[in-house]
Amino acid sequence: MSGRRKILVIEDEPGIRLAVKDELEFEGFDVELAEDGAGGLAAIRRSRPDLILLDLMLPGRNGFEICQEVRAQGLRTPIIVITARNQEADKVRGLELGADDYVTKPLGLAELVARIRAVLRRSDQPKARDRDVLDVPPLRIDLRRHAAFKRGVELPLTDTEFRMLALLVTRAGEVITRDEFLDQVWGEHVHVTHRTVDTHVASLRKKIEDDVEHPTCILSVRNVGYRFNENITSP
Ligand code: CA
Repeated sequence: MSGRRKILVIEDEPGIRLAVKDELEFEGFDVELAEDGAGGLAAIRRSRPDLILLDLMLPGRNGFEICQEVRAQGLRTPIIVITARNQEADKVRGLELGADDYVTKPLGLAELVARIRAVLRRSDQPKARDRDVLDVPPLRIDLRRHAAFKRGVELPLTDTEFRMLALLVTRAGEVITRDEFLDQVWGEHVHVTHRTVDTHVASLRKKIEDDVEHPTCILSVRNVGYRFNENITSP
């Protein structure tokens, strides 16, 4: 990592806000604070943080709306949402709206710092899409030629299937939500549903998996989306 990284903390509870600020500054981060959604959005625009730590339950515009708004503006800034413990649905919704990770209250500061470092590390990696050929044995994706191969044999993928596969492999190990597929593969102005994503994943699996009933490349993440297995074990 180069230089000091700037973390924007959007949290309405002063006690948590200050405890997090102290801890992060102690760990060598620059910290900016916002206490509500409007202030948070203004700070994002003004100071372009390297990562946003976002409480979901905020007065005024809540964390879900902030998350959605940030992504709608095309910003890829990593976001970690803070949820109340046992709010499983909130975690899922946060991830669906484009958050990268979540932590639960009460916050463990050591865990929080570890999560922040992990998410920053991930976002620092050179984007795989900048490379032309992605090797994920037994698959190989040639982005420039728009072609995919399995054990050296070209796969008969449709354009949509290729784009889905390229998105999955480019971000191997990360969950891609159905909304992200819709945005990135179909574009935002096309009216297709989550069901369409599932249908295309099914046809893609038929072409790339050894055993469609037990997929090892494209894994389902229940209620959220799909993840490309970065640790495929394949002959
Ligand atoms: Ca709150």
